[in-house]
Amino acid sequence: MRSCAYVRAASVEEAVAEVAADPEAAYLAGGTTQVDLMRDEVFRPARLVDVTRLPLRGVRRDGGVLVAGALTTMEELAAHEDVTARLPLVREALLRGASPQLRHMATLGGNLLQRTRCRYYRDPSQACNKREPGAGCAALDGHHRTHAVLGTSPHCIATHPSDLAVALLALDASVRVHGPDGERTLPLTEFYRTPGATPHVENALAHGELITHLEIPLLPAGARSGYLKVRDRASYEFALASVAAALVLDGGRIRSARLALGGVGTVPWRVPRAEEALLGARPERGVFEAAAEAALAGAEGRPDNGFKIELGRRAVVRMLSTLAEEGGS
Ligand code: SF4
Repeated sequence: MRSCAYVRAASVEEAVAEVAADPEAAYLAGGTTQVDLMRDEVFRPARLVDVTRLPLRGVRRDGGVLVAGALTTMEELAAHEDVTARLPLVREALLRGASPQLRHMATLGGNLLQRTRCRYYRDPSQACNKREPGAGCAALDGHHRTHAVLGTSPHCIATHPSDLAVALLALDASVRVHGPDGERTLPLTEFYRTPGATPHVENALAHGELITHLEIPLLPAGARSGYLKVRDRASYEFALASVAAALVLDGGRIRSARLALGGVGTVPWRVPRAEEALLGARPERGVFEAAAEAALAGAEGRPDNGFKIELGRRAVVRMLSTLAEEGGS
């Protein structure tokens, strides 16, 4: 493992100045992914700036929005009373996103920024454009059963692994960012970048920018929501396909619909055309199947992962049917 300098920041401003001044510096928070990547020589910072002592932990209500510090742990957000009462899709995404041990360590900011589980990315002996731009992509002709069918490019087909990001995307959540040029707020819909020709660029953050808070709008009272995760085993596994959904039903019709997919896209995947297919319609199977078709529109499978397209459609129908029939969880 490459040796690197370690600094503990005493303020947000100091942390940002430390990282912004060194192109090879990076932030360190929960460290649940970064330390593994450093051991594997995949992530090789020259300087780590520890932000764990910064006052960015805790959740508060600001009107109809939950404001969560980026250092809040997954477990703390899952246990918050407003999340339990009003945001079942967020709670389920958190509980299904990691083991209890990891949920107590992993931070919300780190969860949104976690790196892909593509096996070639994590093996420096293999070609990977995301790890080393221009090196090629070993997954294209290699093992790609778990890889993406939406948002891919000839340069990368890796999925984004976060469950939480999928639920937050469905809610139109935003991140607050502090950087060398001050503060800004970024909607999650504009945060992630599909790989295109630059798979190493995964999000809209500039070097030195630090996520300080998440802004999570609450669902209206009476909304039904949930998170369905389909995976190879029941725990400690990433999604083959997942669905975050929220419906408001009134007078036998769907008055509001939110839908996002995980496990099938190179980024958390919001599906506005599927939401449009639901609006004003009766909550019945034919409508859900039309929405599922729209949700997976444009998907392209490869020899090993083509099954994800039908799996994704079925997951959408199942999630929506569950909300319609049982009133959500
Ligand atoms: Fe690297 Fe992406 Fe190809 Fe995986 S799919 S080897 S992360 S370029």
